[in-house]
Amino acid sequence: MNDENKDTDMAATETGNVLSTVHDHIAKQAKLAGRNVDDITLIAVSKTRSADQISPLIDSGHRHFGENRVQEAAEKWPTLRTSHDDIVLHMIGQLQSNKAAEAVAMFDMIHSVDRPSLIKALGKAMAEQERYIDCLLQVNIGDEEQKGGCAIDDIQALLDAADAHKVPIIGLMCIPPAGQEAAPHFALLDKLASEKGLAERSMGMSSDYGVAVTLGATYIRVGSALFGPREG
Ligand SMILES: *Cc1c(COP(=O)(O)O)cnc(C)c1O
Repeated sequence: MNDENKDTDMAATETGNVLSTVHDHIAKQAKLAGRNVDDITLIAVSKTRSADQISPLIDSGHRHFGENRVQEAAEKWPTLRTSHDDIVLHMIGQLQSNKAAEAVAMFDMIHSVDRPSLIKALGKAMAEQERYIDCLLQVNIGDEEQKGGCAIDDIQALLDAADAHKVPIIGLMCIPPAGQEAAPHFALLDKLASEKGLAERSMGMSSDYGVAVTLGATYIRVGSALFGPREG
């Protein structure tokens, strides 16, 4: 084995270990809450990570990945995906309406639908491409200024708009306010999803995914706990 292969092998082992640590924590928390671990999908948030950092995860068998920018995803994923047609790509960042068509073509799920103009653009793109991908409404759960996500009071109107434009909404997503305890926000998102009869809850990141699992998360979005700290 040459040195290069050895390095690749070590990277794969290390990645496998980190991945199983996160999976173990999910399983432990699910058990605590009496939940089935199969109802929870781990999304590896690969924004800012290079193909070289992402590949070992794919080689370890991981398939769900999250990106927050259309442009960055378009640069990385077509190549990364060539050898694996079962990769599921999640859009988790704010989406401009003029990128809706590109997003519908590239992603398998969009977590960040939050306004009527975007719903309209997504509906048009989905109809044109005959590709109706699952979406989540992002809720500004802490009612923060300058934050993506719709107001809690606007959820029903957006669900109605999505219905009208044939955009499939299967759940809610949130990012709790920085520096606050996340649990009450997760509990609220879970309650809102139940009230609306929506099955999916996308909540929990590296620092709080364990709590999110106990409070009903079905998708958790984990970056730095898998890849290490992000630069910048
Ligand atoms: C970056 C990001 C994450 C992952 O954050 P970590 O703290 O690195 O786990 C999750 N969700 C969204 C929307 C993000 O932008």
